[in-house]
Amino acid sequence: MNNKYTITQFRNDFPDNDTCLHRLYELRYKNLVCPKCDSDKPFTKVKGRRVYQCPCCAYQLCPTANTVFHNSSTPLTHWFYLIFLQTTTRNGVAAKEVERQLNVCYKTALRMCHQVKKLMANMKVEKLTGIVEADESYFGMKAENMTKKKRASMIDANNTFKDNKTGVMGFVSRDGLVRTEVMFPGKSFKERVRDNVSTDATLVTDSHTGYEGLDIEFTAHETINHSAGEYKRDEWHTNTIEGFWSQLKRTIKGTHIHCDAKYLQLYADEVAFRYMNRDRQAEMFDIILRHVV
Ligand SMILES: [Zn+2]
Repeated sequence: MNNKYTITQFRNDFPDNDTCLHRLYELRYKNLVCPKCDSDKPFTKVKGRRVYQCPCCAYQLCPTANTVFHNSSTPLTHWFYLIFLQTTTRNGVAAKEVERQLNVCYKTALRMCHQVKKLMANMKVEKLTGIVEADESYFGMKAENMTKKKRASMIDANNTFKDNKTGVMGFVSRDGLVRTEVMFPGKSFKERVRDNVSTDATLVTDSHTGYEGLDIEFTAHETINHSAGEYKRDEWHTNTIEGFWSQLKRTIKGTHIHCDAKYLQLYADEVAFRYMNRDRQAEMFDIILRHVV
């Protein structure tokens, strides 16, 4: 089955702003009964405005109200095209690229990218169960890529360069679900595992001492000793989470060049969203739209 959502299909589905608005209307007000006069006749679009109106009592509804599209002068076709790009590209799309393709200013492009990321990050995943791989990885900006101001802020009172790496702890279950948590200070490894993994799970980690003792709290805890050259023992390995890290690194380094620590969770969530829906590309577009309304 061809599950790819192609640019031709996309253009057919959403040729203009009214079609985009109608899709939002459908998602938001399916089987609508007019809240004012109880009529179940379909509302009609008001010409020249982002508004639908009841044919009986003229009660009006705005499908973009309280969404990221509201109060945005950017055409809905631009927003929809960005969502299309975000769901069909492997490593996401950079604001610079959006600026070029949509011919909007960089500030607008960046704002749009962040809003769509937030919609992707909206996918809530329950604590993971079954066999769950847990691991941590570090992300940071290279000194040579920093602005002068940023570089200066990274040098402490002793004139030494502070470590600017930010850790992310990641969890992947064998049924393909992902949770991530940016490791801001104040929590132990064990606390992070408890917050993301259900106690009936079997944990698989490397031999980092931070994970020691979790076998008491969880069904089981299998340790893979990477420093002794061990990468797989029977069904136990952390290759799945390693695969997720390479995807996150490709997205950050390849597409976005760098990522500020304060946005790292958003990027991790974006990559997790794409990772979890990789076999459902055609549905991904609608999943995001559903998060809008
Ligand atoms: Zn009405």
